[in-house]
Order: sequence, then C-alpha cells, then structure tokens
Amino acid sequence: MITMKDILREGDPILNQVAEAVELPPTEEEKNTLAEMLQFLKNSQDEELANAYQLRAGVGLAAPQIGISKRMIAVHFQDFEETQYSYGLFNPKIVSHSVALSYLAGGEGCLSVDREVPGYVPRYQRITVKATDLNGEELKLKLKGYAAIVFQHEIDHLNGVMFYDRINSEAPFTVPENSKAIE
Ligand code: ZN
Repeated sequence: MITMKDILREGDPILNQVAEAVELPPTEEEKNTLAEMLQFLKNSQDEELANAYQLRAGVGLAAPQIGISKRMIAVHFQDFEETQYSYGLFNPKIVSHSVALSYLAGGEGCLSVDREVPGYVPRYQRITVKATDLNGEELKLKLKGYAAIVFQHEIDHLNGVMFYDRINSEAPFTVPENSKAIE
C-alpha cells in the first residue's frame, strides 16, 4: 500500500525528469503499480483510512511522484458538477486544447509539495486526452474546467514540470489573458 513515505517531495531530481513512455501492453508490474496509485487516491479520500495512515487527500498522482519515471497517472475526483472521474492511465497525451485558458481561483496544491505556493496557474480551459486505461482500452477524454486542470497538473509531472513552474514569479496573481477563473 502506498503511503506518504513513498511520495517524493520537491527537490528530488526524478520530479524534474521527462518520464519514459510505457511500452504497451504494460507488464503486470506496471499494471499493479498503477492500480496501487489509484487505490492510494481512494484511500486518501476515505476519512478513516486517511486518519489511520496519515494520508494527505489527493485527487491525482503521477508515477514520478513515487519514484517511477514512467508515463502513468491516476486520478480520482468529482468535478464541480459532481461527475466522477476515476482512472489509471498509461501514456496520457493531450492531443488538442482550447486557446482559452482557465485557472483555479484558490491556486493548486501537490502531494509532493509540503507548503502553500500562492498564485494562479494558467491552464487550458478544455483539453482532449488520449490514453490507455488499466483494462487496456484506448480512451479519448474530452475534459473541461476542474477536470481539465487536474489532468494537466498530472501530465505536467510526466514532463518534469511542477505547478509552481507555471506561476508568474514576479506577479503570482496575474490573471492570465483570455482566461476564466474556476471557483
Ligand atoms: Zn502534483
């Protein structure tokens, strides 16, 4: 079972690497790892388990965050319209995106970052992601709003990018041009 001690924190060089594509079909070990990543997110949102194992609640986790530099992400959350998203994905790729941007009004957080980093993180308002799921199915997901932000945050981890790398360091609360706040 993955716990907080398995999660790398900022400063670890693995978090700044570009992760390698997973050769398909994935190995049993890769599938098990990804299933465990998804289970961690579910556990972290279960009050009893989170208390018992001191898990910080998370909605997404990328393999580099547990020290595995491979293109695998897990997400588990409801968006603001209460649509449930729960996926373990191999080789997720943004195949198209809107010109319009969005940002979370409350900023972003990360299981690998044990501090608040204030500021707006510009993201695409809408993205289309292609990936292979845990059952080997090829998926094409059209995402917007909060869901699009979560996926972009996790896919960034596969490219060695942390959310704060995208914050304007001179003026962190600069509203990105052509953007909509997600409250
Ligand atoms: Zn993160």
